[in-house]
Amino acid sequence: MVAMLSDDTIIDLLPAAAMAPDQLEEQFPPRALRAGAEVTRFAPSPTGYVHIGGIMVSLLAQSIARQTGGVFILRIEDTDQERYVPDAVNQLERALEYCGIVPDESGDVGRYGPYRQSARQGIYDTYIAALLRRGSAYPCFCTPEDLTELSNRQRESGTPTGYWGPWARCRGMSQTDVTQRLRSGASFVIRFAAPATEGESRVQYVDLIRGPLELADNRNDVVIRKTGGLPTYHLAHPVDDYLMRVTTVVRADEWLPSVPLHLQLFDALKFPVPVYAHIAPLVKLEGRSRRKLSKRKDPEATVDFYISAGYPSEGLLIYLRGLANSRLLDGLPDEVLAAPLRLQECSHSGALVDLAKLEHICRELVAEMPLEHLADRILDWASAYDADMSARVRDDRGSVIRALGLSVGQRKDICKWSDFRPKFGFLLTALFEPVRNPADARFAPLSAELVLEVAGRVAETYRHEPDHDAWFAQIRRVADALGFAPTVREFKQNRDGFKGSITEVARVVRVLLTGLRDSPDLFEVAQVLGEVEVRRRLSSLSA
Ligand code: GLU
Repeated sequence: MVAMLSDDTIIDLLPAAAMAPDQLEEQFPPRALRAGAEVTRFAPSPTGYVHIGGIMVSLLAQSIARQTGGVFILRIEDTDQERYVPDAVNQLERALEYCGIVPDESGDVGRYGPYRQSARQGIYDTYIAALLRRGSAYPCFCTPEDLTELSNRQRESGTPTGYWGPWARCRGMSQTDVTQRLRSGASFVIRFAAPATEGESRVQYVDLIRGPLELADNRNDVVIRKTGGLPTYHLAHPVDDYLMRVTTVVRADEWLPSVPLHLQLFDALKFPVPVYAHIAPLVKLEGRSRRKLSKRKDPEATVDFYISAGYPSEGLLIYLRGLANSRLLDGLPDEVLAAPLRLQECSHSGALVDLAKLEHICRELVAEMPLEHLADRILDWASAYDADMSARVRDDRGSVIRALGLSVGQRKDICKWSDFRPKFGFLLTALFEPVRNPADARFAPLSAELVLEVAGRVAETYRHEPDHDAWFAQIRRVADALGFAPTVREFKQNRDGFKGSITEVARVVRVLLTGLRDSPDLFEVAQVLGEVEVRRRLSSLSA
């Protein structure tokens, strides 16, 4: 039996519980929305890390609210002060903005706030006080040592561990004992007094994604208010979702085992139960088996990975929408972005994350972008994530556009903004590092002497031919004049008769013009660079 504590004791325990629940009801009345409108929320903990699974959850929650003319809320769940990370909220907002997720209510916007749990202590205490008054909660003075000893004894006697039934020592504490402990300044938590359950009783409920489920009922007297005064998730969830008038709780399925406890709490608090939709975690293939996409092991689990590498955000969105509802996997970009998401279509077992698929989507999107737009997106990205490149090319948008014009007809070379520099950077004077050393390994196997000879001759005779064949003919002429075989075939037939083949000659030009041993078509490169720059690069070797 839980002792009914006096009002004075309750005030001692919870000085912040200023209001009565009725006042809160008035302050946060039911929303005037049309029938069928759903109120959903994304409720992340600001841990300094935004998992793409969380983005998928919020895309679903946002889409459900928009489809039904409802409201989508962003609530910051920061009651775990030990995990507090400065700047985490800004980071979260950046990630949401990048993904085009715009809550209807959050921060200072909306009349159902505060939308940050650490600012809601008075609200939580009001309801905890109500539970204490009804004998549905009680203070617990057990120390961490007491609790360790308790679980040791439970383990020794082969009993399930936890604060439950006969083991819940503080549950039966009298008013006098509580008063005495409080006077002595003992620290305490508040526990929920779980309703008596019969033996191995089970609860049933219907999940929007998983359908009807049956789970073992809760019998633990869980902590609902921590020593410092903040609530645990178990109490904050019903209080916040009730007062914010949330109708549909979309959340990760790690919370599934807690549903029986949450149902008990909704009942004890006299709140109607919302509809739950538990989303399976994203998975990844490792060898032949699937495992949860892990924040520790997989860099691609965090939104920052995509933002900092510069994946186009619409590509990420299209991809995540396809992961949420597989009917969208191969749709047209605009259609996928506009399509309503459906909870009932989410996978039970967890969608498989595959970067190659995302990259394919992004490549296709980039291929369709006008060059001016592409250049702006790359420059925007660089201003935040490649300061060096940004400083060098910020004022030369024209060169970026010209560089992007290379092989534009078969553009499948960019799937993210960070691809620009390694693939096209050599086309920009500001990013290109001229090759000065004739003994540079990129010229191998040609000797430094021959490299100088070839480079000198090409530079001397160079004509900026606007025709592909004419341009290459001049390289062939140099090869011929210097004793290199003009074709590979001729070289193979008579190795001793030549200094090398046309390949080596072309390589000298390639390395001088691009810095690469493997490059796009040299004629096209020369056209993008323009005559002045080609001549400058052909003469960059120091003797
Ligand atoms: N803060 C909880 C989490 O990040 C939220 C769960 C929920 O959406 O209710 O796991």
